[in-house]
Amino acid sequence: MAEIQIRNVAKQFGSYTALRDINLTIADQEFMVLLGASGCGKTTLLRIIAGLETATTGEVWIGGRRVDHLPPRDRGIAMVFQNYAVFPHLTVFENIGFGLRMRRMAETELRQRVERVAELMHIEQLLKRYSGELSGGQRQRVAVARALAMEPDVILMDEPLSNLDALLRLEMRTELKGVLAESRTTAIYVTHDQVEAMSLADRISVMHQGRIVQAASPIEVYRNPATEFVGGFIGNPPMNFLPARPLGEGRWQVAGLVVDGPRLDKPLHFAIRPEDLRPAENGLQARVRVVEPLGAHVLVTCDVDGAMLRAVLDSDISLNPGDRLTLAPQPDRIRWFDPETTRAVH
Ligand code: ATP
Repeated sequence: MAEIQIRNVAKQFGSYTALRDINLTIADQEFMVLLGASGCGKTTLLRIIAGLETATTGEVWIGGRRVDHLPPRDRGIAMVFQNYAVFPHLTVFENIGFGLRMRRMAETELRQRVERVAELMHIEQLLKRYSGELSGGQRQRVAVARALAMEPDVILMDEPLSNLDALLRLEMRTELKGVLAESRTTAIYVTHDQVEAMSLADRISVMHQGRIVQAASPIEVYRNPATEFVGGFIGNPPMNFLPARPLGEGRWQVAGLVVDGPRLDKPLHFAIRPEDLRPAENGLQARVRVVEPLGAHVLVTCDVDGAMLRAVLDSDISLNPGDRLTLAPQPDRIRWFDPETTRAVH
């Protein structure tokens, strides 16, 4: 069992607060992604779990054991970082076996272990090559293989795919997901790439300014963002927000449209994803500003009552800047936020 618990963790760098009151439990064998913009504190949190950084306050527990006073090597973790740290003057075999040799594993067992993880990562044909001669993608596989060879309870990854080109990234992402599910390792993965987060995670922790603002399944953070920040950060293009005025009895005025919503008597923000808008007879009166073909879809940026609205529509629609367009929000996809707190209202 390698459940990870982060209890009341905070981190100060001098007078700068990098993390505030982080509480998070990652289940045994769960794939947790820490997602957030640059500077939100995700690397700092990962380094605290790894033992490369100490928390100012709070505790870290791994597999029922308090570990925050233990050095990294005693925490049962393996790490894969962005710059891979594969030794160029060692062969792939020596790289993968490096940690095992440090542990003084017997030669036969070491050889078997290295060959098995090399097969898992599809690099068995590279074992005799020097790592300095490998491509970025191959080196990345070696880094992951080396981490897996340790058979850690927990694997920590910090933007491990960020140096790869788009196609290789996609390929490695799929492979990582398969390999980690098979190895039954608990994984924490740091990224600022929301597509990567959505595709890999069992759960995503969305971080903002040193806090976790939502920790939930990818579909939950996508469909039911806890705050306007999450709605804007997850999804590309981001969620639309429009001011809404209460008409009483759960009816709301949104631009020229009347829609059903919460029974509240103060202004709210109406929110809808660009892909949940459809051209219709009755809807939001929009004027087209910019039309951007995306292949199967077209991104249309419009003006609605002085506010900007983005819609992702089927590409068979023919639109030009200046055209008038009526866009109906799919009723079950409408969300509401309190502009004062920016939190979701149910
Ligand atoms: P990125 O995606 O850019 O790596 P991040 O979300 O991982 O960003 P962190 O690296 O955790 O962010 O940094 C969080 C904040 O803490 C940043 O503002 C950073 O400047 C600051 N910080 C991190 N390490 C230190 C340090 N050793 N000393 C002072 N400030 C630090």
